[in-house]
Amino acid sequence: MSEIIERLEHVIHEMNRACKSVNRKPSEVCLVAVSKTKPADMIREAYEAGVRDFGENKVQELCDKMERLPKDIRWHMIGHLQRNKVKYIVGKVALIHSVDSMRLAAEISRLAVLNNVNQDILIQVNVAKEETKFGVTSEGTLELVRNVAQLPNVHICGLMTSAPYVEDSNENLPIFHKMSQLAVDIQKENLDNVDMKILSMGMSQDYVAAIKEGSTMIRVGSKIFGQRYYTNTSVE
Ligand SMILES: *Cc1c(COP(=O)(O)O)cnc(C)c1O
Repeated sequence: MSEIIERLEHVIHEMNRACKSVNRKPSEVCLVAVSKTKPADMIREAYEAGVRDFGENKVQELCDKMERLPKDIRWHMIGHLQRNKVKYIVGKVALIHSVDSMRLAAEISRLAVLNNVNQDILIQVNVAKEETKFGVTSEGTLELVRNVAQLPNVHICGLMTSAPYVEDSNENLPIFHKMSQLAVDIQKENLDNVDMKILSMGMSQDYVAAIKEGSTMIRVGSKIFGQRYYTNTSVE
């Protein structure tokens, strides 16, 4: 068996175990395989093993891969998105995880209307208030959600966060807990055009902890595809 398939099976096994430990159904959690920097043939291996959701963080790379790989793949834009690049992905990706400003949301909406498509999005929240990370503050999330909900042709499906790098993933339990609570609070507002069904949280280091706190979408890269190597010209 190939290394990728082996790693994939391990991740799925741990996902199932984490779900069981908190009485959740494995079908409640979607695995997004984060394939950034990895070649198309590695993606194809995971695809053949049944994975249909893949995450990328660079528009150019995402578009190149989308062109070359099977059309039933659901692509997830998980990285910071510049407004001038929205045109390349709007209506083509299944979900944009990284919407953290009204300006970006307005541009997605404008181009979605222009192209007569709808775009599902998540609001990225910087729950841990890390200076190096993108995302709206927890305190500012409801207001941003309210404003974005007014825009045509974009649909808010939930929230996304990246927790801090930690040695022990249990350290991130409070972060994930706070995210779940934030989603519950927003859901209670019963806003038109807003769902809080998707909680995109948990990466290779901490997806088990995230599932325990209610994650419905985990974004796992290195634990499936192996460590990433960056050259000088490609930075994360
Ligand atoms: C790279 C990346 C991931 C996956 O990270 P791993 O540690 O390799 O699992 C998840 N989410 C975002 C936003 C990323 O940029």
